Amino acid sequence: MEATWPMLEPMLDSTGNMTGTVHRAMFGKNPSGSEVSAHLVQFEAAARTHWHTHDGEQILIVTAGTVIVQREHQPAVRLEPGQAIRLPADERHWHGSAGGAAAHIAVNLGNTVWLEAVTDLAFDAAVKGARGLLEEA
Ligand code: MN
Repeated sequence: MEATWPMLEPMLDSTGNMTGTVHRAMFGKNPSGSEVSAHLVQFEAAARTHWHTHDGEQILIVTAGTVIVQREHQPAVRLEPGQAIRLPADERHWHGSAGGAAAHIAVNLGNTVWLEAVTDLAFDAAVKGARGLLEEA
Protein backbone atom coordinates (compact mmCIF):
# COMPACT_ATOMS: atom_id res chain seq x y z
CA MET A 1 0.00 0.00 0.00
CA GLU A 2 1.14 3.53 -0.75
CA ALA A 3 2.25 5.70 2.12
CA THR A 4 -0.67 7.86 3.19
CA TRP A 5 -0.43 10.99 5.33
CA PRO A 6 2.89 11.92 6.93
CA MET A 7 2.14 11.79 10.64
CA LEU A 8 3.12 14.65 12.91
CA GLU A 9 4.95 12.83 15.67
CA PRO A 10 6.14 14.91 18.62
CA MET A 11 9.62 14.02 19.90
CA LEU A 12 10.89 13.96 23.45
CA ASP A 13 11.77 17.52 24.49
CA SER A 14 15.34 17.49 25.76
CA THR A 15 15.92 21.25 25.84
CA GLY A 16 16.08 21.29 29.63
CA ASN A 17 13.24 23.82 29.73
CA MET A 18 10.61 21.37 30.98
CA THR A 19 9.86 19.49 34.18
CA GLY A 20 8.71 15.91 33.62
CA THR A 21 8.16 14.25 30.26
CA VAL A 22 7.12 16.50 27.39
CA HIS A 23 6.94 15.66 23.68
CA ARG A 24 6.95 18.46 21.16
CA ALA A 25 6.71 18.99 17.41
CA MET A 26 7.50 22.42 15.99
CA PHE A 27 6.38 23.96 12.71
CA GLY A 28 8.75 26.76 11.67
CA LYS A 29 10.87 28.73 11.91
CA ASN A 30 11.55 29.17 8.24
CA PRO A 31 15.12 29.65 6.97
CA SER A 32 14.75 33.43 6.78
CA GLY A 33 13.91 33.56 10.47
CA SER A 34 10.14 33.70 10.69
CA GLU A 35 8.82 35.35 13.81
CA VAL A 36 5.98 32.86 14.03
CA SER A 37 6.38 29.30 15.25
CA ALA A 38 3.80 26.67 16.08
CA HIS A 39 4.28 23.74 18.42
CA LEU A 40 2.24 20.69 19.30
CA VAL A 41 3.16 19.99 22.92
CA GLN A 42 2.15 16.87 24.84
CA PHE A 43 2.57 16.82 28.61
CA GLU A 44 2.62 13.65 30.64
CA ALA A 45 1.07 13.80 34.12
CA ALA A 46 2.36 16.79 36.12
CA ALA A 47 4.79 17.83 33.38
CA ARG A 48 5.06 21.54 32.70
CA THR A 49 7.26 24.18 31.18
CA HIS A 50 9.67 26.26 33.16
CA TRP A 51 8.74 29.88 33.82
CA HIS A 52 9.34 31.89 30.65
CA THR A 53 8.41 34.93 28.61
CA HIS A 54 7.82 35.44 24.90
CA ASP A 55 8.95 38.48 22.90
CA GLY A 56 5.52 38.62 21.30
CA GLU A 57 2.10 37.21 22.05
CA GLN A 58 1.46 33.52 22.44
CA ILE A 59 -1.80 31.70 21.93
CA LEU A 60 -2.46 28.29 23.44
CA ILE A 61 -5.16 25.99 22.06
CA VAL A 62 -5.91 22.94 24.18
CA THR A 63 -6.30 19.71 22.24
CA ALA A 64 -6.41 17.04 24.98
CA GLY A 65 -6.74 16.71 28.73
CA THR A 66 -6.74 19.65 31.12
CA VAL A 67 -4.02 22.26 30.73
CA ILE A 68 -3.03 24.68 33.48
CA VAL A 69 -1.63 28.14 32.79
CA GLN A 70 -0.27 30.53 35.38
CA ARG A 71 0.69 34.16 34.88
CA GLU A 72 2.93 35.64 37.55
CA HIS A 73 1.06 36.97 40.60
CA GLN A 74 -2.25 35.48 39.43
CA PRO A 75 -4.12 32.30 40.29
CA ALA A 76 -3.77 29.59 37.68
CA VAL A 77 -6.53 28.76 35.22
CA ARG A 78 -7.57 25.40 33.84
CA LEU A 79 -8.31 25.02 30.13
CA GLU A 80 -10.25 22.17 28.56
CA PRO A 81 -10.00 20.82 25.01
CA GLY A 82 -11.23 23.42 22.53
CA GLN A 83 -10.49 26.35 24.82
CA ALA A 84 -7.84 28.87 23.84
CA ILE A 85 -6.06 31.68 25.62
CA ARG A 86 -3.93 34.64 24.60
CA LEU A 87 -0.82 35.52 26.61
CA PRO A 88 0.67 38.99 26.35
CA ALA A 89 4.26 39.63 25.32
CA ASP A 90 6.97 39.79 27.97
CA GLU A 91 4.83 38.42 30.80
CA ARG A 92 6.24 35.65 33.00
CA HIS A 93 4.14 32.48 32.88
CA TRP A 94 4.23 28.71 32.59
CA HIS A 95 1.88 26.04 31.24
CA GLY A 96 1.48 22.30 31.47
CA SER A 97 -0.52 19.35 32.73
CA ALA A 98 -3.13 20.09 35.40
CA GLY A 99 -2.62 16.56 36.73
CA GLY A 100 -3.14 14.03 33.93
CA ALA A 101 -1.82 13.83 30.40
CA ALA A 102 -2.67 16.93 28.39
CA ALA A 103 -1.73 18.64 25.14
CA HIS A 104 -1.91 22.05 23.52
CA ILE A 105 -0.92 23.80 20.35
CA ALA A 106 1.21 26.89 21.00
CA VAL A 107 1.60 29.63 18.41
CA ASN A 108 4.37 32.03 19.32
CA LEU A 109 5.46 35.39 18.01
CA GLY A 110 9.15 36.06 18.48
CA ASN A 111 11.53 34.22 20.75
CA THR A 112 11.10 32.57 24.13
CA VAL A 113 13.23 33.50 27.14
CA TRP A 114 13.52 30.53 29.48
CA LEU A 115 13.70 31.05 33.24
CA GLU A 116 13.62 28.88 36.36
CA ALA A 117 11.68 25.63 36.85
CA VAL A 118 8.28 25.61 38.54
CA THR A 119 8.89 23.82 41.82
CA ASP A 120 6.70 20.89 42.86
CA LEU A 121 5.43 23.03 45.75
CA ALA A 122 4.44 25.90 43.43
CA PHE A 123 2.93 23.47 40.93
CA ASP A 124 0.80 21.74 43.57
CA ALA A 125 -0.39 25.10 44.91
CA ALA A 126 -1.27 26.28 41.40
CA VAL A 127 -3.29 23.13 40.68
CA LYS A 128 -5.16 23.46 44.01
CA GLY A 129 -5.95 27.13 43.45
CA ALA A 130 -6.80 26.91 39.77
CA ARG A 131 -10.23 27.88 38.45
CA GLY A 132 -11.85 27.06 35.15
CA LEU A 133 -11.29 29.55 32.34
CA LEU A 134 -14.94 30.59 32.39
CA GLU A 135 -15.43 30.55 36.19
CA GLU A 136 -15.60 33.78 38.14
CA ALA A 137 -12.40 34.66 39.98
MN1 MN B 1 4.33 30.34 27.00
